Amino acid sequence: MSKTISGASQASYLLSKSKFIAGIQCPKRLYLEVFLPNEENDGKAEENLQILNGYDVGDIACALYPGEMVKLDSGMALAIRKTKQLMADSKIECIHEATFSYQNILVRVDIMQRQGDSWVLSEVKASTEVKDHYYYDVAVQAWVLQGCGVKLASKYLLHVNNKFVYQGNGDYQGLILNVDISDEVDAFMDDIDGMSKEFNEVLKGDMPEVVMGSQCNKPLACKFQDYCQTESIPEFPLTVLPRSTEKKRQELANLGYQDIRDIPDGVLTNTNHQRVWRVSCSGKEEVDVAALIELNHLPWPRYYIDFETISLAVPRWKGVRPYMQIPFQWSCHVHHKDGRMEHVEFLDVSGEDPREPCAKALVELAGEEGVLIAYNAGFEKMVIRGLAEAFPQYHNELLEMNERFFDLLPITRNAYYHPSQKGSWSIKAVLPALVPELSYKDLDGVQNGGDAQLAWMKAVRSDAEVSKMIADQLLAYCELDTMAMVKIMDALLERVKHEKV
Ligand code: SF4
Repeated sequence: MSKTISGASQASYLLSKSKFIAGIQCPKRLYLEVFLPNEENDGKAEENLQILNGYDVGDIACALYPGEMVKLDSGMALAIRKTKQLMADSKIECIHEATFSYQNILVRVDIMQRQGDSWVLSEVKASTEVKDHYYYDVAVQAWVLQGCGVKLASKYLLHVNNKFVYQGNGDYQGLILNVDISDEVDAFMDDIDGMSKEFNEVLKGDMPEVVMGSQCNKPLACKFQDYCQTESIPEFPLTVLPRSTEKKRQELANLGYQDIRDIPDGVLTNTNHQRVWRVSCSGKEEVDVAALIELNHLPWPRYYIDFETISLAVPRWKGVRPYMQIPFQWSCHVHHKDGRMEHVEFLDVSGEDPREPCAKALVELAGEEGVLIAYNAGFEKMVIRGLAEAFPQYHNELLEMNERFFDLLPITRNAYYHPSQKGSWSIKAVLPALVPELSYKDLDGVQNGGDAQLAWMKAVRSDAEVSKMIADQLLAYCELDTMAMVKIMDALLERVKHEKV
């Protein structure tokens, strides 16, 4: 049955470039982008982070290609008029956010540079490479400009150079790479006219009925997945099968299975899939006690440690590359053999380079004995290696720390599974199964790693009062992360306590 969004005004709308791109991914996404109320239309933290990174890269690109900015403050009509004035002024060589509308589609061009009687169009992206879906992005703009009578000499994609190393003093020459994508974009231009008509029709009708599928994550994860999933989803969908390929899931769906519990015994061949199927059918956890026994032999003290990092498109500190993982926080619960538990933490939201104080605090924390326990320890070790390379004064101690890590994730994955995990061994999935009384949902503001990165971004841009409030949320979140590991360890040890080894 077709649906509309209550209160949706379908009388008038202007299709922005981002909504047009949403329509290419899925007509229902386009409809929801236009008509779903704002509070239900917010992206996830990761998406907001990409937006903030995009703004930073945009600022650098504007500084590298100085020009006149078309502001939106006074509305679209004035922005379009201002664009025409600037283009008519032959002294203006470069325009930022030039604004055009054609056949109900509105575009704002990141950078337009005059070249004789033509213009060079440049789209700025915070990614480190040219992705195929950018061609449509630029093709929509080129199509609108062509419709407005603008002659384009070429189309460029400006993206982040991941080899760039920031040398300080605000010098970002070399951060942005400039790629001519004119031929690729031209190949898509003929499609735009038909799409434009199709999307305008979509927005005149009821919400399109679209079954969720591969389009929901291609080219980007659609933010309406929760919305669409509420319509109907089996309790244990085929996606619960860990690392299953789309081909495999399609084969099972073609056999009529939507919920993994419908699959008969003997059909699944992968042993991990068999385990997930078995546990989902029985509704009871499965524990491989023998695989857990080594937990009894871990040395003391036990340092349960977890990092939060920030990964910026535009590096802020000398010696940093784009998207390098920079640790700004860690939490550590130290469990001593006599049962004492200490909590030590580090957080820097000053906006200054947090790495040196972070490295120093780590060296002071960990001493020379005991085991460092992390969940997916490869990440923590990678961060520590980065600190060791950057700060020779701590190099040896930090690398020695890396030799003392024990990873709680693989042993948990091998030895334990509960139906509520739904195919995941992330700490967020394992914790409610093993320690139901401890929950991230009770935390204020920051509830996952994406939230933490976004919170750091906000904290360093806020006044002292707001920054302190965000810092408190970050501290509570990271402390829970390491307490979660302590409790998971306790719960796993509880299951082997009667074993005699
Ligand atoms: S979740 Fe999938 S089906 Fe729903 S709007 Fe997004 S892309 Fe379309």
